[in-house]
Amino acid sequence: MHTHTHVPSRRDFFRTALGGALAGASVLELAFHRAAWARAQAPAAGPQLFDIEKVADGVYCALARAQAMINSNAAIFVNSQDVLVVDAHSKPSAAAALIAQIKKEVTPKPVRLVVNSHFHWDHMQGNSAYKAAGKVDIVASEPTKQLMQQEAEKRLKAALEQVPQQIAALRSRAAKATSAGEKAFCAEQIRQMEAYQAEMKSFSLELPSIAFAKSHIIKDRAHDLHVEFHGRAHTAGDVIVFCPQKRVVATGDMIHGFTPYIADGFPRIWPKTIDSVGGRAFEQILPGHGPVHHNRERMIHMRNYIEELTARVEEGKRAGTPLAELQKAITVASLKSLQSNGYQKFLEANLYKYFPNFGPATPLQTNVNTNIEEVYKNLERA
Ligand SMILES: [Zn+2]
Ligand SMILES: [Zn+2]
Repeated sequence: MHTHTHVPSRRDFFRTALGGALAGASVLELAFHRAAWARAQAPAAGPQLFDIEKVADGVYCALARAQAMINSNAAIFVNSQDVLVVDAHSKPSAAAALIAQIKKEVTPKPVRLVVNSHFHWDHMQGNSAYKAAGKVDIVASEPTKQLMQQEAEKRLKAALEQVPQQIAALRSRAAKATSAGEKAFCAEQIRQMEAYQAEMKSFSLELPSIAFAKSHIIKDRAHDLHVEFHGRAHTAGDVIVFCPQKRVVATGDMIHGFTPYIADGFPRIWPKTIDSVGGRAFEQILPGHGPVHHNRERMIHMRNYIEELTARVEEGKRAGTPLAELQKAITVASLKSLQSNGYQKFLEANLYKYFPNFGPATPLQTNVNTNIEEVYKNLERA
């Protein structure tokens, strides 16, 4: 049940970019990955994809810059002998670029552990670059491994099938554009989408080598790292990486700076899962997208938004209110959680920054409407 138009719109683009719609497949060619690795290390590697921010001693966050096909952030934990990285972006060349950037800016120690916080394409399609760079274990929850097996290749195929349509839409937008800036923006988006398309034709799925049920604990001289499953949330398999000594947690898409993506989510359980994570002693959050959180305020806002929206949709659905009516009734202004201490503005600023196609012309209500639809569909999930 889609309420949006079939003409590729900014909203379709947004949904695809953020979305579940991805993951793909064919046979991995090591030569290709070596080439991607070499390209990423070469001076002409293209525009920088990440900004690495120090969060605590031995803890860094690689903040993904905006791209047509979104990359996740990565959390970087420097251990005594090696490095653990949380999340692997949307494509091997992005992961290879980060490996090179870590060497240059953070440490010469090798990345020996990668955690996939969940199964979405923008967090794991770069796994194979870590394999190509050296010996590595990839860690995830059992549900995440299973979802990767079931969904990754199917979703990538579906997403790649949409790319020509998205490029055509950008071309027609460029043709109508009145400013040089907009034309250049469209040209750059097209360039990025074509590069993605070309690279992902030879994508090979790299599954986790370690899959666990509740937790996987790494004890290192530098610190302990607890990879933990606290319950279903954004997907059936989200994990966090908690470091008790540095009082930080990496949260994937369970807690971040965008409106949530709920199509694969569990709206009634998600807030409780965040509460369980909140029982850990941390001060800073390294999210899957958006800026580092230096306190818990935005975590609480996101939790409250999901809870409030779910309660409103549940009430309406029980009363037999059609989805389209709920989307009219549940406005941004009427959601207390969004009105709490600048949360609406915080979300808007991040969306405009990270989804250049989703500019101020697209109000936050568009995302709220998408969330209402997702919650409406997934309300009964437990
Ligand atoms: Zn996700
Ligand atoms: Zn994501």
